[in-house]
Amino acid sequence: MTKNIIEPNQIKKESDEIYDVIIIGGGPAGLTAGIYLSRARMKILILEKLIAGGQAILTDTIENYPGFPDGISGSGLMQNMEKQAADFGTIIKYEEVVSIKNKKDSEIKIIKTLKNTYKSLSIIIATGAEARKLNIPGEKRFLGRGVSYCGTCDAPFFKGKKIALVGGGDTAIEEALYLSKFAREVTVVHRRDRLRATKILQERILSNKMINISWNSIPLEIIGQNKVEGILLEDVKTNKEIDVKCDGVFIFIGYLPKTDFVKSILHINDKGYIKTDENMMSSINGIFACGDVRQKMLRQVITACGEGATAAYASQKYVEELKGTVYK
Ligand code: NAP
Repeated sequence: MTKNIIEPNQIKKESDEIYDVIIIGGGPAGLTAGIYLSRARMKILILEKLIAGGQAILTDTIENYPGFPDGISGSGLMQNMEKQAADFGTIIKYEEVVSIKNKKDSEIKIIKTLKNTYKSLSIIIATGAEARKLNIPGEKRFLGRGVSYCGTCDAPFFKGKKIALVGGGDTAIEEALYLSKFAREVTVVHRRDRLRATKILQERILSNKMINISWNSIPLEIIGQNKVEGILLEDVKTNKEIDVKCDGVFIFIGYLPKTDFVKSILHINDKGYIKTDENMMSSINGIFACGDVRQKMLRQVITACGEGATAAYASQKYVEELKGTVYK
């Protein structure tokens, strides 16, 4: 880590308005960073666009987060994390960040939201990712009228109905299992002849009588008059079109990182994820990234939390180096 000792006068002059660390995003990574930095008594703030908890609050049951042998609801786990952060003194402000930059000739970072401008010595980006879209005809038009990206939110609307669900990863299969408790039939549409999802989920879906799988199929169009009435698929092996009648189309085809506001200043990979070193430091000194927004192999609540802790510790050390107060 490069040591750029900041001028003490500069901090003194502006200290009232300068945070030690501003965390952008209040999902598992951001909240964990909040817990660690609050316990270290750093002057911090979480800026969250909408609701704390991230994608995890949309998950019905999380069964691979250690310590909860019976599983825990995504919203329950995230409420616990939010409470834990608040109990240690973490403050969350609900504002959307639109840009960050280094103040000229200074180590101070400027964070602009739609409402305010903030200054901090370090930033942790934990903005996560959002649902990827299929970008096929009908998808936008029928959003909220049969098209959904969230089973936990919309499943009760599909009681006794027929659902098509696109995707073959962990999210898709977990959601298919959840939706099968409501729908009369769930058709999983997957573009290959085997699933990407973890084996235990595959076992469950293959033995679930409410769920069938349309293998080697890609969706071409979501069909309907005023609401979803079906989905048109293409069999990639035969090129034949198949019209599947359904009342709802759920789409779980992965996520896109929320990095638009830093694309021009940080090193990101071709898929938009932020590149960091092992201490979560990005290509700019003092700016860290953790959780789903970071380039890595495994995206889980547990990895987001671990990275949040590392980013918090590394940003604390970075700030203390700047101030000359690091305990060596
Ligand atoms: P993912 O693993 O990237 O899977 C996306 C799925 O959508 C894949 O099956 C992919 O097909 C398919 N797909 C992508 N683009 C498509 C398109 N344009 N048309 C049709 N199908 C398309 O995404 P995810 O399932 O959301 O998972 C994201 C991360 O979260 C993963 O690391 C996952 O392990 C993790 N996760 C873990 C848990 C858990 O541990 N309980 C739960 C949820 C998510 P291909 O397979 O052909 O590429």
